[in-house]
Amino acid sequence: MMMDVIDVAVVGGGPTGLMLACELALAGISVRVLERRVEPVQQARALTLHPRSLEVLALRGWEGPFLERGRPLPTAHFAMLDTRLDLSALDTTFKFTLFISQTVTEQLLEERARQLGVDVRRGCEVRELRQDADGVELAGTAGGESFRCRARYVVGADGARSIVRQLAGIAFVGTDTTITAMLGDVVLAEPPATPVLSVAHLRGGLMLVPRSPGIHRVLVVDPERMQAPVKESVTLDELRRSVTKIAGTDFGMREPQWLSRFGNETRLAENYMAGRVLLAGDAAHIHFPAGGQGLNVGLHDAMNLGWKLAGVLRDQAPPSLLESYHRERHPVGHTLLHNTEAQTALISFTPSGLALRDLMSDILKNPDLNRSLAERITGMDVRYPELELPAPRREGEPVKTLTGKRLPDLELRLPDGATRRLYSFMRDGKWLLLRLREGNGAPVQLDRGWMRWTNVVQARVGDDREELRELSALLLRPDGHVGQAWAR
Ligand SMILES: Cc1cc2nc3c(=O)[nH]c(=O)nc-3n(C[C@H](O)[C@H](O)[C@H](O)COP(=O)(O)OP(=O)(O)OC[C@H]3O[C@@H](n4cnc5c(N)ncnc54)[C@H](O)[C@@H]3O)c2cc1C
Repeated sequence: MMMDVIDVAVVGGGPTGLMLACELALAGISVRVLERRVEPVQQARALTLHPRSLEVLALRGWEGPFLERGRPLPTAHFAMLDTRLDLSALDTTFKFTLFISQTVTEQLLEERARQLGVDVRRGCEVRELRQDADGVELAGTAGGESFRCRARYVVGADGARSIVRQLAGIAFVGTDTTITAMLGDVVLAEPPATPVLSVAHLRGGLMLVPRSPGIHRVLVVDPERMQAPVKESVTLDELRRSVTKIAGTDFGMREPQWLSRFGNETRLAENYMAGRVLLAGDAAHIHFPAGGQGLNVGLHDAMNLGWKLAGVLRDQAPPSLLESYHRERHPVGHTLLHNTEAQTALISFTPSGLALRDLMSDILKNPDLNRSLAERITGMDVRYPELELPAPRREGEPVKTLTGKRLPDLELRLPDGATRRLYSFMRDGKWLLLRLREGNGAPVQLDRGWMRWTNVVQARVGDDREELRELSALLLRPDGHVGQAWAR
């Protein structure tokens, strides 16, 4: 039998795998998504897209359908504390959390992937993986038949129990579940007056958020039920009892769409790469789902990996560029686990736990501290170390203050006086050399391989952007982070 050979096989068609597939297809790479499920999943675990995720989508011009289907909320939460994180203070066009169900996010990403020509194969379960110096062979079952395929690289975006991670021999280091919480997507006959409600006292804690028209998500931490095993089903009666005990009412809950129990198992892949196998999303990191971060970080992993893998496959970058994926994203995974552990510690309804919650809530009334935590939870503060890259030979003196930081969607003024948004120049997934001084230089001399993959734009940025005022040029990576900056 002839072996089917492709550039990249992405195992798992969740949000991370689909986002990565879109990025690769945009760069002209042949990519196949192997997804075990025949039908899209109906239960929406995640409900949030954070500002950086909206920026990531906007970098490709894909944010529109998400904004149409979601609902903006100008705050986010940390450990269900009373003081919410104020996203309106962030330096971004998207000063809000977009409430959108994971089902919709996946549907929109899958549509985009198919439009870009990604071969999305549902009902394909990967069971075997073998790699050699040139590629990776996968085998599994599809519709009762066995299949095999070979790819130059494989990405495991196959979630928390990732078979790819296990077969590649990558350790998943961390701790087991010690507490569990309950979730119910229900109809509330008497919903609370505010869009979001948090309650915390000695009897436990809960949060109510609108999930979709007519449906609320109820999240409950009941000290008397925190030791229930994660596999034990939640009943509507159990949820109602806990909610009534904590809030004094069950809000008239009925017609459960989904009831689930989840825990705080916390693990990080020791390496995001083993030979030609890479990991992204939940396959690389799991944690207590506090602060609505997991899906978002998975999208950011995908955005970081896509252009690197494409560059290597097009022979425009050395394979060593892929090592920077682990170097850049593993610390982000570590920070994610760290802040969710901190939130788990704060989800404590003992007298001392409640005192700590009050103290934290007070501290978060300070706008600077509030903004700093909001930036951390939403991935806006991520800054990558300097990357060694083929770059323009001389655009001025190198300036390091911005290296590795993301840039917001700045308004640019073009030489003809027209204005355009920065991200509108990054839709094709290429690098962008932004020359900020008129007539500032010799013709662009980019390394040959990269030249075909770099757009060059002459523009000015408003003077209110102090950090950019002295710059003569900026080289932006395809993921919107600053590769290099120069002053005149
Ligand atoms: C209760 C709860 C609430 C949450 N709320 C939020 C939130 O508000 N915001 C947020 O950002 N995150 C939230 N999360 C986390 C979020 O759901 C995950 O981080 C996200 O789904 C990860 O996406 P992924 O694509 O990496 O993995 P997954 O969504 O798990 O997708 C993996 C895919 O791989 C497939 N697969 C698995 N094994 C194989 C195989 N062998 N062969 C082929 N396919 C395979 C699976 O069928 C699945 O479709 C929440 C999680 C929980 C449990």
